[in-house]
Amino acid sequence: MTEKNKLPIFDGHNDVLQSVYLPKTGKARPFFEHTAEGHIDLPRMRQGGFCGGFFAVFVPPNSSGGGFPGAEPDKAATTYEIPLPPALDLTYAREMTIKGMASLFRLEAESKGQIKVIRTADELRAFLGGEAIAVVLHFEGAEAIDPDLDALEVFYQAGLRSLGLVWSRPNVFAQGVPFKFPGSPDTGPGLSDAGRQLAKACNRLGILLDLAHITEKGFWNTAQISQAPLVVTHAGAHALCPATRNLTDRQLDAIKETNGIVGVNFHVGFLREDGRLEPDTPLSEIVRHIDYIARRIGIEHVAFGSDFDGAIMPLDLGDVSGMPKLLQALRNHGYDDDALRKITHENWLRVLRTTWK
Ligand SMILES: [Zn+2]
Repeated sequence: MTEKNKLPIFDGHNDVLQSVYLPKTGKARPFFEHTAEGHIDLPRMRQGGFCGGFFAVFVPPNSSGGGFPGAEPDKAATTYEIPLPPALDLTYAREMTIKGMASLFRLEAESKGQIKVIRTADELRAFLGGEAIAVVLHFEGAEAIDPDLDALEVFYQAGLRSLGLVWSRPNVFAQGVPFKFPGSPDTGPGLSDAGRQLAKACNRLGILLDLAHITEKGFWNTAQISQAPLVVTHAGAHALCPATRNLTDRQLDAIKETNGIVGVNFHVGFLREDGRLEPDTPLSEIVRHIDYIARRIGIEHVAFGSDFDGAIMPLDLGDVSGMPKLLQALRNHGYDDDALRKITHENWLRVLRTTWK
């Protein structure tokens, strides 16, 4: 590890792949060139000291499905509620997922060693802070997986190492929370029988189960079944910002008990006390959530879960190249090198080493 990369940043969630495999959404942009669009490209990752993380494959609502929260609540709104979009069709979801995976693997091949899809904790340890960006293949929602779990076995062999049971919509396994502010995460049913089988299968294979977006009942059902540390890749503290997507103190305590982790989401609407979607939000709001979680459950259980390219970032941060500003803000707040090593990558490494086979 070079001196410059003493604090390699490994992050719990980004949506940059969507701009690679869903060009029809108008989000297509070069990945290997520096641009001012979105939050992530290779040069900006280098600039920000971003060395890897969970890269999400996400299935957008299909044209007939509707209900996508495209109609964002306006930034002055003090309350909002976006109804849950409908469940997706398995065939469509699988087709889109394979497209996303293929795009990632092509990107890896094109990158000439600059991008590496990693499949083991040893690989992660070896690559982190080196020349390649370490990518963990993550699905944001289990829609592409059949209830018999055949696809899960195949996706695992292809490199799937992290699975979000849901996005904010229902599927055959569980249900996500609607985007709502203010609101409790207890918005609907927990895991179905198929969902329980899926959780057990992920434990058996060594696939990390991500509980971001899931209803509070789904969270507790998983906590009862899963043998692995509880993980929420991108969320915040409900006590500081009462959005449905954030975690209650009880949930945080359960994460601590299992030696799990929370990746703190940088989305302004999940940071601010007033929940407003206002980009003019100070960086200190991210520090506030990290601080709260570290004080409540310990520095070992908090990390980054940026949601770059999937959310509204504080203007001060801007994009991934602004990460050094966040590290500086944490330093100014009293976090020393030891603490920063944990937050930036050591905690994620520990959890992945425990969870993966
Ligand atoms: Zn998300």
